[in-house]
Amino acid sequence: MAELLELRGITKRFPGVLANDQVNLTFRKGTIHALVGENGAGKSTLMNIIYGLYHPDEGEILMNGEPVTFHNPTAAIAHGIGMVHQHFMLVPAFTVYENIILAAEPRRGFMHAFLDRKKAIKQVEELATRNGFKIDPNARVRTLPVGTQQRIEILKTLYRGAEILILDEPTAVLTPQETKELFVILRGLVDAGKTIIFITHKLEEVMEISDHVSVMRHGRVTMDKPTKETSIREMAQTMVGREVFLEMKKKPVDPGEVQLSVKNLWVADDRAVLAVRGISFEIRGGEILGVAGVAGNGQSELVEAIAGLRHTEQGKVKVAGQDVTNATPFAIRQTGLAHIPEDRYKRGVAGGASAEENAIMFFHNTSPISKGVQIDYVAAAAHAEEIMEKFDVRPRQRMTKAGQFSGGNAQKLIAGREISLNKPVLIASQPTRGLDIGAIEFLHSQIVAARDAGHAVLLVSTELDEVMSLSDRIIVLNEGKLIGEVSGQAADRETLGLMMAGVRPTSGAQVSAE
Ligand code: ADP
Ligand code: MG
Repeated sequence: MAELLELRGITKRFPGVLANDQVNLTFRKGTIHALVGENGAGKSTLMNIIYGLYHPDEGEILMNGEPVTFHNPTAAIAHGIGMVHQHFMLVPAFTVYENIILAAEPRRGFMHAFLDRKKAIKQVEELATRNGFKIDPNARVRTLPVGTQQRIEILKTLYRGAEILILDEPTAVLTPQETKELFVILRGLVDAGKTIIFITHKLEEVMEISDHVSVMRHGRVTMDKPTKETSIREMAQTMVGREVFLEMKKKPVDPGEVQLSVKNLWVADDRAVLAVRGISFEIRGGEILGVAGVAGNGQSELVEAIAGLRHTEQGKVKVAGQDVTNATPFAIRQTGLAHIPEDRYKRGVAGGASAEENAIMFFHNTSPISKGVQIDYVAAAAHAEEIMEKFDVRPRQRMTKAGQFSGGNAQKLIAGREISLNKPVLIASQPTRGLDIGAIEFLHSQIVAARDAGHAVLLVSTELDEVMSLSDRIIVLNEGKLIGEVSGQAADRETLGLMMAGVRPTSGAQVSAE
């Protein structure tokens, strides 16, 4: 296999950060090369260098053995490099073909003043057929599911002649079935001679799809070998720099009283469209109920309604036996709710306030921190230090502004505060989104500890692995409806994936009564 693309000694510095440190990597033609690493390991920086968005401080790039320099993406594209970013860059109001040909339109007429619409549609159709994509060139992009939009992004790079496709976390937004379909497409592209660089943090996917894997840590390549010569365990270890425990060990569930009860809940989203449609469930103390689903299927609105952050149109929410439907967030918290919110910087912490001030929020009006109308600052400091210690918030500086902590440490601070509130109900919404394996492992252990201490935990996550490894029971939401419920032990990816796509389970899984 030919060495299509080679990176030699690539170093890239940002103020105070060595993002890439003497990176040597070789990408061979006709392979799928996985690139894995924790957040901040330097993967995107490296890809942006290949794509001509950044310039390396040191080192060189070779294509087919010849040194090349890309001053901008246009130069990289001209050399056959294509990139699909994590956040799609399509124009929603445009049709499929318009998006694909955008800025590379076939022209006709005097001075090429006219877009050759017919030719464009024909080209797009041919390209799609040749690569085994099923798409309608005239569909409006905004009406298409995420998986289809991603395919259009891929076609767009192919239209521009990409030979090397860089995909940045392409499966983060997909259901397991959509991921399978993507993998079929990627295999087809590779069979046709294309080369794929596939960034992911899901190690099972690396094993399934890639021919070669490179692991990055702190800007360096810490492992680089054919996929069949490594294991999930070894990849995780070289990624984090120490042994990690991938399987969550849990005691058998020991449910107590019902602490959270949601009955026939209907909630509208910001556009006044019903996002939650008649959902009912109960959670007992000592159990974790996982909510699985593709992002945007009503999960956020469900949580906000329970927490009093969004109006409930119809239905009832009871916390610790008390009706709290449409009560204020403060009243609901007082009644018995702790909440690790989805958007940690918007709702979880006050970024401009210190870690200490954040740690005492919701504790400030009770003893020992409250002394009548005053705050006992000695008690406040002790409380903050205790939380930061127990939840491993780094650096251990209680006067540092919360907004200055990394995502993982801000999240540990929030989780520490909320779990320490010791309320009967704990909601954890996307608790580990964007965090590295070390922080994920820690937060998972704390969520399970909260369950073992008797809290009723509602875990909402778009990461199916997270839901499966932590939950005692799992419900699946699709378009605001509860599709079904499975026990945590009986759950398998296939069934859950189908449910996430809206298919109700037939056997094996018990369908909840509506
Ligand atoms: P990854 O994609 O593996 O998560 P990145 O390449 O995005 O990692 O980041 C590597 C490091 O470089 C991080 O510490 C990040 O904060 C830093 N970094 C990335 N881009 C910039 C930038 N444009 N300016 C300053 N620092 C950056
Ligand atoms: Mg990145």
